[in-house]
Amino acid sequence: MTRGEDSYKKTTIDIIVPCYNEEENIDAFYAAVQEVVEAIPGYEFSYIFIDDGSSDKTLEAIKKLVAGKEKPEIKYISFSRNFGKEAAMYAGLKQSSIRGSDYAVLIDADLQHPPQLIREMIDIIEETGCDSCAARRVSRKGEPKIRSFFARVFYKIMNRFSEIEIVDGAVDYRMMDRKMVKAIVDMPESQRFSKGIFSWVGFDTRWIEFENIKRLSGESKWNVWSLTRYAISGFVDFAEAPLKFMGFMGGVITLGAGIYLIAELIKTGIFGKDVPGYESIICLVLFFGGLLVAIMSVIGQYIGRMYVETKRRPIYVEKESNTDEE
Ligand code: UDP
Ligand code: MG
Repeated sequence: MTRGEDSYKKTTIDIIVPCYNEEENIDAFYAAVQEVVEAIPGYEFSYIFIDDGSSDKTLEAIKKLVAGKEKPEIKYISFSRNFGKEAAMYAGLKQSSIRGSDYAVLIDADLQHPPQLIREMIDIIEETGCDSCAARRVSRKGEPKIRSFFARVFYKIMNRFSEIEIVDGAVDYRMMDRKMVKAIVDMPESQRFSKGIFSWVGFDTRWIEFENIKRLSGESKWNVWSLTRYAISGFVDFAEAPLKFMGFMGGVITLGAGIYLIAELIKTGIFGKDVPGYESIICLVLFFGGLLVAIMSVIGQYIGRMYVETKRRPIYVEKESNTDEE
């Protein structure tokens, strides 16, 4: 439903904010977003803050916002421990789906996602009638060079080998309509790679671009290991290419070995026995040993993930929330 179609009910938008140790950012974030959304007529905005098991006073900061306020509506869900941003986004989207809001906007709490883009997203969705409008960073200024480099390589490989398309520089800052939110919430996997999920569910998505901004306060929660794990999980979740590639490699090597064996047999038949060469044997043993271990570790990645999925554990555990209150 767009503005004006129903003059009795305003279009509702939930702003979903995953927060992990953001105590110093919450107030500034809220003020900045409020300034933008208050100037947008015809819509009713609510907030859903997800406290992802913060060890600082993030939850207190959120509760302080909630206290004594009727409008805008501010909901929060606090996790029993840190479950990761993916789980936090899922919890927020699920809540938005339960509330039946018309749109949901995912946004970071550190003001790295410029709030004024919310207005642009709304305009684009209104004008084009698309289902989703997402933001992508066009520069990676202020980010370590090495991280930008690996991110680029990751997106290249990912798009080459997986069935889905992931836009380079895409961040988890996007507005989606109710249909798309529902589709995402209905994806049952417990190990979630949202960038892949957003793309997998389809729908008509438009992109807007913005320049990278430094986070307001605190540090990024990502380090080399968590980013590497994130990249591997994205790959394993959405690409079967590594599995196919291993089959191909296996075939090529077996064929090569077969041809080599026949050639050796013929050679021995004609010229008699050679002096046995240990080097070549050792080389082959090592080569195949290494190859097998590599192949098994790739298979292991998939099996490990299947193992976790079959346990059907919940994506997050809630410790407290105000989502049941009116
Ligand atoms: N975040 C979260 N759980 C985590 C890590 C991060 O909810 O385990 C939130 C964080 O509070 C922020 C957003 O996800 O609102 C992006 O995190 P961060 O700024 O660390 O990532 P970056 O901007 O460096 O990609
Ligand atoms: Mg950030």
